[in-house]
Amino acid sequence: MDAVTTARRMMVEAVWKRQGLRNEELQAVMETVPRHLFVDSALAAKAYQDISLPIAAEQTISQPSMVAIMTNALAPRKGDKILEIGTGSGYQTAILAHYTPRLYTVERIAALSKRAQGLLEQLGFRNIIYKTGDGSLGWESWAPYDRIIVTAGAPVVPDKLKLQLAEGGRLLIPTGGRESQNLLCVDRVAGGFREDDLGECRFVPLLGKEGWEK
Ligand code: SAH
Repeated sequence: MDAVTTARRMMVEAVWKRQGLRNEELQAVMETVPRHLFVDSALAAKAYQDISLPIAAEQTISQPSMVAIMTNALAPRKGDKILEIGTGSGYQTAILAHYTPRLYTVERIAALSKRAQGLLEQLGFRNIIYKTGDGSLGWESWAPYDRIIVTAGAPVVPDKLKLQLAEGGRLLIPTGGRESQNLLCVDRVAGGFREDDLGECRFVPLLGKEGWEK
């Protein structure tokens, strides 16, 4: 096994231990995704530390433990139709792509979307549909979704996202202040919605009509 693969395994194992995660399928997936390719080559040496890192356009690639916690809580089932808001580097996208034949991902910054698409195509992902635009409004054309994940912080849960959930569907979204938020898990149940607070987190702001102003 080469050094990069070993470093990646060790990081994922450490995250699983520290967070007390039991999700072996997700662990195996995260052990295959080459995070060092999703950051600038100057930062590649730090890619297997459990920290968020800067990417282009003043955005960040999420911390691996947060990606693990969110994906675990999202609990995608094989075959689910998934919508991701905040493509960013494409790292979380690569992990989600494992679970679904149809992954839709929206990013407001064209350059980030383009870079992520180029890399993910190079890595062999063919089941991802990309859009540049305001994901705080969701992506109406393909709704409803079984799972929606937002990787930027919103002031409140956008109604449009809730309404694009299928019955039995689940939405994960950080909400609260501009600097720090709480991770909310919203389930669409018969006749309404149920919300769970999964604890504190820190994300860059979701900028848009149903998010923050610039
Ligand atoms: N999952 C990504 C996280 C990137 S940070 C990763 O790990 O790389 C959050 C991303 O959300 C940023 O790229 C930011 O540009 C994007 N974003 C912010 N507001 C948005 C909006 N309204 N619609 C779509 N993307 C948005």
